Amino acid sequence: MSAPIVIAGAGVGGLTAALSLARAGKRALVLERAPKIEEVGAGFQIAPNAGRILAGLGLEEPLAAVALEPQAINIRRGRDGAVLAKLDLTDSRARWGAPFRVYHRADLQQVLLQAALAHEAIEVRAGARVGSFEARAGSVSLRVHAGDGVEEIEGVGLVGADGLRSAVRGRLLPTEKDAPVYSGLTAWRALVPAELAPAVFRARESNLWMLPGGHVVHYPLRDGSIINVVVIVAEPPRQSEGASILSLDGAQLARALERLRPAAELRALIEAGASWRHWPLFGRPPLESWSQGAVTLLGDAAHPMLPFLAQGAAQAIEDAEALGRAFLQLGATAETAFAAYQQIRIPRASQIVRASRRQGDYFHLAGPAALGRDLAIRALGGRGMLARNAWLYRQP
Ligand SMILES: Cc1cc2nc3c(=O)[nH]c(=O)nc-3n(C[C@H](O)[C@H](O)[C@H](O)COP(=O)(O)OP(=O)(O)OC[C@H]3O[C@@H](n4cnc5c(N)ncnc54)[C@H](O)[C@@H]3O)c2cc1C
Repeated sequence: MSAPIVIAGAGVGGLTAALSLARAGKRALVLERAPKIEEVGAGFQIAPNAGRILAGLGLEEPLAAVALEPQAINIRRGRDGAVLAKLDLTDSRARWGAPFRVYHRADLQQVLLQAALAHEAIEVRAGARVGSFEARAGSVSLRVHAGDGVEEIEGVGLVGADGLRSAVRGRLLPTEKDAPVYSGLTAWRALVPAELAPAVFRARESNLWMLPGGHVVHYPLRDGSIINVVVIVAEPPRQSEGASILSLDGAQLARALERLRPAAELRALIEAGASWRHWPLFGRPPLESWSQGAVTLLGDAAHPMLPFLAQGAAQAIEDAEALGRAFLQLGATAETAFAAYQQIRIPRASQIVRASRRQGDYFHLAGPAALGRDLAIRALGGRGMLARNAWLYRQP
């Protein structure tokens, strides 16, 4: 049997890449450093551009069973809750070929994992960390840390889908200039039981509240039983920044809310969150190349982005689809397919990295600039605001 394409990381990107490669007739070996494959907490919005791809991989039925389809997105002025525009999502299927959905992260991850485990061309191993590797023409030799030992594994290619602090990227581009950079913004995330939330927020709708210097997004998950709340605030860098996830008590968040001064009902929703996770947001400059020979990058490893267009996972899914398509169309070696893949994907992913950053600046305007923005949103209305995102949701 021929050696597999090795994928480092069993996140949304790595698992979708395995399914896409398997569809193209390739064997995939997914190595995940965590002892158990599971996503922690919180929710994902999966926009139609990614939803179409997941459906195309045959996942529609299990995904529909765990997804919630918000009927609308309300864009609100954060200080008083006024709805500036209501974006109707009910005709997303007709317009973009897939619904706009939200998932509990663990549910989406499980659907992808179960599909991968059921596929005879895919092997998934947890507790296996990709360490160093050497790439030669047509093959890659990897050292994989599993249990107390180190194992040598051969692949015909290596896909680094190992997230923001990608070890594969670190070896492809061993330069200090490429280190992740703290954005100055932090996400606080909590899941609030719906019965504790103000009644007005239990509707099947997403809400975006824009505040000077921050914003809040919330939407219901799991048949409306919980509400995913994300609060974005400016926070100074600190020593703990190196870690992506920290669990803290709410005192720090309370201080951040003093600065944001959200509307009373939004504050009530935030105060109903008992366990907050603190998530400093990092970026890395867009790269001109993701591949070297038989090694390439995918998802956050290739193009981490600020989450303000809710496209990080969606772009990982687009990467995965393009990777499989490159093999399918070229029937080629990893080197040729990876070169074609990056050519297709780098312009769009880099554009979205930059647009995501600008979107944060736009949400966080203050004073007269915020007033002008709010007037413009009212003038555009829900239809106009959705049309502004058509470039994201269209067929890649
Ligand atoms: C607050 C917030 C909200 C967001 N909301 C959305 C949203 O609504 N919609 C959306 O599309 N995106 C959203 N995103 C972005 C999204 O979370 C990421 O873009 C997405 O999870 C990236 O997936 P990935 O598979 O590339 O990386 P990851 O999910 O980071 O997975 C990488 C995997 O690789 C493993 N790994 C790491 N190193 C190694 C190694 N050496 N060997 C083996 N395995 C390794 C890790 O354990 C991990 O399982 C949001 C992000 C944040 C921070």
